[in-house]
Amino acid sequence: MNTPLLPAVDAPGILREVAFALLLRDRRPIEIDDLAFVAGMAAEPVREAVTRLAKGGWLDLDDTGRIAGSAGLSLATGPHALAIGGAAFRTWCAYDALGIAAALRADALVETTCGRCSTAITFEFRNGQPDRSGPERLWLADGGGDLRGSFCTPTVLLCGEEHAADWAEAQGGRGRLLNLAAGARLGGEAWAGCASAAKRLARP
Ligand SMILES: [Zn+2]
Ligand SMILES: [Zn+2]
Repeated sequence: MNTPLLPAVDAPGILREVAFALLLRDRRPIEIDDLAFVAGMAAEPVREAVTRLAKGGWLDLDDTGRIAGSAGLSLATGPHALAIGGAAFRTWCAYDALGIAAALRADALVETTCGRCSTAITFEFRNGQPDRSGPERLWLADGGGDLRGSFCTPTVLLCGEEHAADWAEAQGGRGRLLNLAAGARLGGEAWAGCASAAKRLARP
């Protein structure tokens, strides 16, 4: 569960990465036929795969069935704000925000709140590096059956050591604490496949 986004060699993985790249580039929901076209796959199996991925929480669909979120990057939902080069996105968990900014080597702004006390937490990335490594901590959940409930929901930032320890205890120790720099490093590797898809699909 901690390596869900290694560079994909499977069709669903490729679809997630291509959807991520299109959301990042175009900042609008993706028609499934357009995803199939860009991924170079037939529309019907892509439609089936998208339905399955959305059920598992690996893609977000809007109410007209277009893709609005992939690999943690979302146009609509998500408790964490991530601005990449001035473009506003949401992410499903705090690790998504760190990993995406790091993998894209982006100038970015992350805005979220402490999972324990709701204090605002804001920090910037320059060229994929967070502007500090603490005192905030990332709780990286072990995850389990379903991606969003068991991994994304508990994967938050904490304002400092004390609330980090409280959160770890409340989660029954099922995960680990990292500082911001370590979380960004790890996430940068996890989102490498998404970042190279984004590079391939970037407009000239
Ligand atoms: Zn997540
Ligand atoms: Zn706190």
